[in-house]
Amino acid sequence: MGRAFVYVILGGGVAAGYAALEFTKRGVSPGELCIISEEPVPPYERPALSKGYLLPEAPARLPSFHTCVGANEERLTPKWYKEHGIELVLGSQVKSADVRRKTLLTAAGETISYKILIIATGARALKLEEFGVNGSYAENVCYLRDLADANRLVNVMQSCGGGNAVVIGGGYIGMECAASLVINKINVTMVFPEAHCMARLFTPKISSYYEEYYKSKGVKFIKGTVLSSFDNDSNVKVTAVNLRDGSRLPADMVVVGIGIRPNTSLFEGQLTLEKGGIKVNGHLQSSNSSVYAVGDVAAFPVKLFGETRRLEHVDSARKSARHAVASIMEAGKIGEFDYLPFFYSRVFTSSWQFYGDNSGEVVHFGDYSGSTVGAYWVSNGHLVGSFLEGGTKEEYEAMAKATRVKPVIEDLSELERQGLGFALAV
Ligand code: FAD
Ligand code: NDP
Repeated sequence: MGRAFVYVILGGGVAAGYAALEFTKRGVSPGELCIISEEPVPPYERPALSKGYLLPEAPARLPSFHTCVGANEERLTPKWYKEHGIELVLGSQVKSADVRRKTLLTAAGETISYKILIIATGARALKLEEFGVNGSYAENVCYLRDLADANRLVNVMQSCGGGNAVVIGGGYIGMECAASLVINKINVTMVFPEAHCMARLFTPKISSYYEEYYKSKGVKFIKGTVLSSFDNDSNVKVTAVNLRDGSRLPADMVVVGIGIRPNTSLFEGQLTLEKGGIKVNGHLQSSNSSVYAVGDVAAFPVKLFGETRRLEHVDSARKSARHAVASIMEAGKIGEFDYLPFFYSRVFTSSWQFYGDNSGEVVHFGDYSGSTVGAYWVSNGHLVGSFLEGGTKEEYEAMAKATRVKPVIEDLSELERQGLGFALAV
C-alpha cells in the first residue's frame, strides 16, 4: 500500500502550517502536497496551549487558533486544506524513513514517497524518568507539549481548584503554567535547580524582577534544588513531592517543564546532525539535497552571529518554514535565511520581547521597581541583544531594528543612560 507526492511535510505543528500557507502562495498544485502528523488535528499555534487554552473563562479552543492566525495570516482549517488539494494524513505516526529511497512508513503500514521532504517534527518534552525520578506517569502529573497534554492539564486543574500545585522547572513552561495555575486559583510553588528563573536567557536582575512579580501573585519559589521522589496514594495519584534538599511539598497536582529534545531519531545515521538537531544550510536544506528541516528540529546558520543554532521558538518555526518553501519552489532565486532570533512571553498582564543574542556584557535600563524594564547585551563592542518588558509596538520594532544593525557601542554607561532612547534613535 502506498501513495506518492511531490512534497511531503513530516510533522503537523507550527512549521508545517506556515509551510503549507507558503506552498499555496507560491502555486502548489492540488494533489502535490501531503502533511503527515501524529496529532489528530491540522496545525495550530502551539503557544496558545500554555496561555489562552488554560484560561478559566472563555478559553481558546480549536478551530480558533489553527495556524496561521498567530502571524495575522489566514486561519487554515480542515476545509482550507481540502480546498487547496493538500492531503492531511492525521493521527498517523511515521515509524521509519529512508532518505535514499525517499519513502516514509507510517504506523498504519502505509508507505508514502516524496520528491522533496520537509522535516518539521519539532520536539518532545523531557520526562523526569530521564533524570532518574520515577512516577511522573501518575494521572495528576502534567507535561505540556500538545493538545492532548493541554486537555489533560485543564482536567487536572479543574479537579483541584483551591489546591496546591508544584511546578517543576523554571523555564518557559514553568513560568507560563505557573501564571495560568494562579489565574485558575491554584496555589503554586515553583521548584528549579538554578539560582533564578529563566536562567538561560535572563540576567539575575531581570529574573528577580519577574520573581518579585510572581511572588506578588502568591507564587512561592524553591530554588537550587530538584525533585527526588513522589509520594502517592492508593490510586497512584501524587500526594506530595520530595525534594533533594529534604523538604516535602504536599501536592494536588504537578506540572513538569524541564526542557525538550528535538525529534531527530528517524534520521539519525541518514542525515548530518548538529546541536541536537538536523543540520541545514541557509536554504534549510539538509545533508541530503531532497530533504529540508525547519522549526525546532533544525540547526541552521544564524548569519548575524556567524554560527549554527537550533532555536525552540515559534517565530523561527514560522519563518524557517516559509524560507524553506520559498527556496524549494523558486530554487536559485531565493537568498539565504537571514534570521534575527526573537523570543517572547506573555504572563498575567506582563509581556516581554527579546531579540538577538544574550552574550557579552549587560546593561540594564528602565525602572526595575516599575513596569517598563529593559536590557542590552554588548559583545566585542557591538550591541548584540535586547530585552524589553511592557513596550509598545513601535518600541519593540525599534529594539529589533537596533539589534539587527549591531551598532558599535563605545560607552556602556552612556548606553545605560540612554536606555530605550538608544534603540529608538538607531
Ligand atoms: P511542533 O509545533 O512541535 O510540531 C511538530 C509536529 O510533528 C507535531 O504535530 C508532532 O506530533 C509531529 N510529529 C513528530 N514526530 C512525528 C512522527 N514521527 N510522525 C508524525 N508526526 C510527528 N514559542 C514562542 O516563541 N513563544 C511562545 O509563547 C511559545 N509558547 C509555547 C507554549 C507551549 C505550551 C509549547 C509546547 C511551546 C511554545 N513555544 C513558544 C514554542 C513553539 O511552540 C515551538 O517552537 C514551535 O511549535 C515549533 O514548531 P515545529 O513545527 O518545529 O514543532
Ligand atoms: P526550558 O528549556 O525553557 O526550561 C527547562 C527548565 O527546567 C530549565 O530551567 C532547566 O534548568 C530546568 N530543569 C532541567 N532539568 C531539571 C530537573 N531534573 N528538575 C528540575 N528542573 C530541571 O524548557 P521548558 O520545558 O520550559 O519548555 C519546553 C519548550 O517549550 C522549550 O523549547 C521552550 O522554548 C518552549 N516554550 C516556549 C515558550 C515561549 O517562548 N514563550 C513558552 C512555553 C514553551 P537548566 O537550565 O539548569 O537545565
